[in-house]
Amino acid sequence: MSRPAIRGWCPGALHPMASGDGLVVRVRPRLARLSPEQAAGIAALSLRHGNGLIDLSSRANLQLRGVTADSHPELIEGLRDLGLIDASAEAEARRNVALTPFWTPGDDSHCIATALAKRLAAPDAPDLPGKFGFAVDCGAASLLGATSADIRLERGADGGLICRADGAETGARVTRDSAADLALILARWFVDTGGAPQGRGRMAAHLDKGTPLPSAFTAGTSASGSAPPAPGRCVQGMLVALEFGQMRAETLATLAKKGALRLTPWRMLLIEGAARAPAMPGLITTPDDPRLRIVACPGAPACRQALSATRPLGRALAPHLPQGALLHVSGCAKGCAHPGPAPLTLAATGPDRFDLIRNGRAGDPPDKTGLSPDDLTSHPDVLTKGP
Ligand code: SF4
Repeated sequence: MSRPAIRGWCPGALHPMASGDGLVVRVRPRLARLSPEQAAGIAALSLRHGNGLIDLSSRANLQLRGVTADSHPELIEGLRDLGLIDASAEAEARRNVALTPFWTPGDDSHCIATALAKRLAAPDAPDLPGKFGFAVDCGAASLLGATSADIRLERGADGGLICRADGAETGARVTRDSAADLALILARWFVDTGGAPQGRGRMAAHLDKGTPLPSAFTAGTSASGSAPPAPGRCVQGMLVALEFGQMRAETLATLAKKGALRLTPWRMLLIEGAARAPAMPGLITTPDDPRLRIVACPGAPACRQALSATRPLGRALAPHLPQGALLHVSGCAKGCAHPGPAPLTLAATGPDRFDLIRNGRAGDPPDKTGLSPDDLTSHPDVLTKGP
């Protein structure tokens, strides 16, 4: 099996990434929220300058696919007119803040995320690796525990706010006013103590090497975790999931007519103030929909590194999986769509050839090899039964 390339950076709008279907242009809306005008504008730009496919990333960003080198400059101008472009690619890369979608204006999450984004845009902000990110998750219980982040601002088990290094059990106690400053102090400590040699590195790996945290960050309390929500009504509106975290531009244009949209890291959009969602292909509105049991990366032909198509197989297998199951279908051993272990993983090893890994990652040693989509769809019990 050929080894997947590790890039160590994330695409942005000003720094797009080449993929099998053209450039991927990532948009990071402020507070992970799109006004109806911004959402409608992105939908129109995707149709005009891309291939009409839009991903919702696991860090709650939108990715416009199928952009070309020729169409990119006009796309950027369109996004700039919508207020969605940063001053520079560096500023864009630094503003890597995941925010709980259940904030309300003026609450801890909203105020801290706003202050943090401002500090990260300042000229003296630390020079952080491209994948380094923050999670602001200060509701009654933390929901973003499984979302990739290096510094977490969250609710401690005793009800107070904490700033926690990812990978550490406890964090420093903070207030709404001090949280962003403490997060930046921790980010600078990470850089100053060698967390990012050659400009790459993550907090948890840095701590794993035995680097001791400053005492203030080990003296506080632990976080209070909670499972992410399912599609359905919530206080702020309606949560809808996207099949494989992707939608057509036409879907985004329709949703824009329903209200402002908050992006979540769970392949879901929150439609502010909505009581119901429109019935549209690829839109999941109920928690028992079998497609929620599948995680699949774009696969072939959308990804250059993919060894096989992934999503048709995931779609075909979804109804055969029991409720509560999770199957990760990966186009190669990199496992982008689910970097951590999954109960079931099918990792492509060639065109229409998959290895099955139980309770592991896409690159882990397989339990079964050489499975074809026909084998799997005609005998789906091979996934859950047998040695
Ligand atoms: S896991 Fe999927 S998206 Fe990631 S590199 Fe492999 S084929 Fe591409």
